Amino acid sequence: MNTTDIIRPRTLNDFIGQQDIAMEVKIALHSAKSRNDAFPHAIFSGAPGLGKTSLAEIIAAEMNVPFFPVLGASIRDEEGLRNILSQLPSNGYDMQTGQVIAPDKVRYAIIFIDEIHRMKKSLTELLHTALEDFRLSMKIKNPLTGRTQSGLYWMPKFTLIGATNYLGVLPRPFVDRFMIQSCFEPYTEAEIIQIAHHSAKKLKLDITPEAIAEMASKSRGVPRILNRFLLRARDVAIYTGTTQITQQTVQEMFQIQNIDELGLTKLDRRVLEYLAAVIRPIGIGAISQAVDEDPNTIENLVEPWLVRLRLMVKTQQGRQITELGLQHLGRELQESRFLKA
Ligand code: ADP
Repeated sequence: MNTTDIIRPRTLNDFIGQQDIAMEVKIALHSAKSRNDAFPHAIFSGAPGLGKTSLAEIIAAEMNVPFFPVLGASIRDEEGLRNILSQLPSNGYDMQTGQVIAPDKVRYAIIFIDEIHRMKKSLTELLHTALEDFRLSMKIKNPLTGRTQSGLYWMPKFTLIGATNYLGVLPRPFVDRFMIQSCFEPYTEAEIIQIAHHSAKKLKLDITPEAIAEMASKSRGVPRILNRFLLRARDVAIYTGTTQITQQTVQEMFQIQNIDELGLTKLDRRVLEYLAAVIRPIGIGAISQAVDEDPNTIENLVEPWLVRLRLMVKTQQGRQITELGLQHLGRELQESRFLKA
């Protein structure tokens, strides 16, 4: 098992925070298990690193069913989609009619599509009948006539879990077919501290509460960022020959990684510098070009933190630096020209 696998929560009890979502999943799990049915289709939205994949894996583990993860962008055409669906176990079904003949053998596998918004609209439409009636439109060649006919064919019942940070990009009729629609929010600092304690315990790290607090305050409410800090701090401790990770170890790690006292990375500062240079409100495309970084990364990872720290604001006209942002860069204040956060 690699380090990321060791840290990943395995059970619902291990999954910290996102209480409303965890409760909805708990109820749906209980219901599905007691009816011996599949878990309902679910769509998880929210920024990267907030636990969408972890929760999908937990559901598969709790349901004790196979889990097939796939990236939305890798499903290129109908054939690709059918190949994924063809992995579904068909034990317990009559292969001709699709009737369940041995209920105890049926296993309702989970297909997990990460970045599901990257699937083509035509492919999401092909999934409509699969999600609702477990039927799939297929073209099949008749061996006698040699002609290709298309029709709706049965397929094993299954669960689709989709993850995305762009729910609005997905066609509404597709989204409507997911019974559970959950939006993941950044974690509170207290929750991040709790996650840090769990991760440190799993990794058998000796770490002080001050070190954990220092990392939590700069983790942006994102467990993946916290875990990365934790692993890098462990490396610094090993390198410097210290057995315990202290606040000083963490500060050294931040210094090496070029993370400043507010938790800003080099990329955050580049974005802020650019906003300070243009002054007027500016669109995401221009920022992305100026700092030579993917707009999704800027939107998902940089902006929420800069906005939360009130270093920039997002308005109808675009993104703009605030007085606090300028102060952080050590720039002169020209109060009348800037927005107050
Ligand atoms: P996403 O799929 O949203 O990008 P992941 O499920 O891959 O996020 O989560 C990233 C990492 O953060 C996981 O490997 C796990 O270690 C940690 N993590 C995420 N959510 C939680 C949580 N609620 N409790 C504990 N650890 C979490």
